[in-house]
Amino acid sequence: MALTWKDIIHFSVKGNPTPDTRVEKSESEWKQLLTPEQFRITRKKGTEAPHSGALCSVHDAGKYGCICCGTLLFDSSIKFESGTGWPSFTQPIKENAIKYIKDSSFGMVRVEVLCNTCDAHLGHVFPDGPPPSGLRYCINSVSMKMIKE
Ligand SMILES: [Zn+2]
Repeated sequence: MALTWKDIIHFSVKGNPTPDTRVEKSESEWKQLLTPEQFRITRKKGTEAPHSGALCSVHDAGKYGCICCGTLLFDSSIKFESGTGWPSFTQPIKENAIKYIKDSSFGMVRVEVLCNTCDAHLGHVFPDGPPPSGLRYCINSVSMKMIKE
C-alpha cells in the first residue's frame, strides 16, 4: 500500500519502521569511505546545488541505493520530473527503507528523510507530489548510486 503524508507525519512523530538491518560507523570511518562531497551531504546534512546532481535527469530503469551502505531506497518506476533540480520520487522502494525526522531548521518545519539502515541524510519529503500518494521525496543525487537493471 502506498504511503501518504499522514503516514509520514505519523512516522516522524511516533517513531519509524524497523529497518531490516543496521550499519553503524564512526565519523572517521565514514570519512575514509566517502568523497568529501558525499561526506558533507550524507553525514553533515548538506544539500547539493539544484540541477547539479548526476542522477537528476537520469530516467533509465533501475534502482537507487544509499551511497553509504548500499541499501535500496527508490525504484526508477517511481521517479518523476519535479522541475526542482533534484531527483524526485513518490514512494520509497519499501516502507522501512527510509527514516523520517521532523526538521525545524531554517525557520521551516520540514520532514527530513534518512537511510533507515545507516542514517545517511538523503533530502526531504513534501506533501505536494503527484497523485495518488501526493508525496514528493526530494533527494540529493550525491546520496545515491544507481543500480541499472
Ligand atoms: Zn545507508
